[in-house]
Amino acid sequence: MSDFLILGGGMAGASAGFFLADRGSVTLLEKEDALGYHSTGRSAALFTENYGSPPIRALSVGTRPFLEAPLPGFADHKLLGPRGVLMLALPGAGAVFAAVLAEGRKTAPELREIGMAEATALCRSCVQAASPGR
Ligand SMILES: Cc1cc2nc3c(=O)[nH]c(=O)nc-3n(C[C@H](O)[C@H](O)[C@H](O)COP(=O)(O)OP(=O)(O)OC[C@H]3O[C@@H](n4cnc5c(N)ncnc54)[C@H](O)[C@@H]3O)c2cc1C
Repeated sequence: MSDFLILGGGMAGASAGFFLADRGSVTLLEKEDALGYHSTGRSAALFTENYGSPPIRALSVGTRPFLEAPLPGFADHKLLGPRGVLMLALPGAGAVFAAVLAEGRKTAPELREIGMAEATALCRSCVQAASPGR
C-alpha cells in the first residue's frame, strides 16, 4: 500500500515520483520493461526556452535553475549541456523570421540571426565532429 500511485515512468511520472517521495511512499508503475521507453527516451533531447506556447515557455524558463543544479539524488549526470539548434527561413519569409526571432528572444535572449557562411561553417564542424576525417 502506497500513499501515491503513479502510472507511467516517463519524465513526467518519474519527476512527480521524485518530488512526492518527500511527502509519502510512492509506487510508480511502468508497463514497459524500462523507464523512459516512449516519448522521453526517444524524443526529449532539447531544452529550448523559446519553444511552444507562452505557458510552456514560462515553465521552461522557470525550470532552468533546477536543470542546471538538480537536487541531490535526482540524476547521476549533468542534465544540460550546450547543443546548437539551427532554424532556417526560406527566401521571402524574412518578416515571419524576424517576428519569430523577436518573440523567441523574449525568453531566450541568446538567440541570434546568422548568415549562410556561418551556418555552413557550423554544419561542416558538426559533420566533422560526427565523422572525423571527412
Ligand atoms: C518527435 C518529438 C520530439 C520531441 N522533442 C523534445 C525535445 O527536444 N525536448 C523536450 O523537452 N521535449 C521533447 N518532446 C516532448 C517530450 O518528449 C514529451 O513531452 C515527454 O517525453 C513526455 O513525457 P511523459 O512522461 O509525459 O510521457 P512518456 O515519456 O511517453 O511516458 C509515459 C509512460 O507511461 C507509460 N504508460 C502508459 N500507459 C500506462 C499504463 N496504463 N500503465 C503503466 N504505464 C503506462 C508508457 O509506457 C510510458 O513509459 C518531443 C516529443 C516528440 C514526439
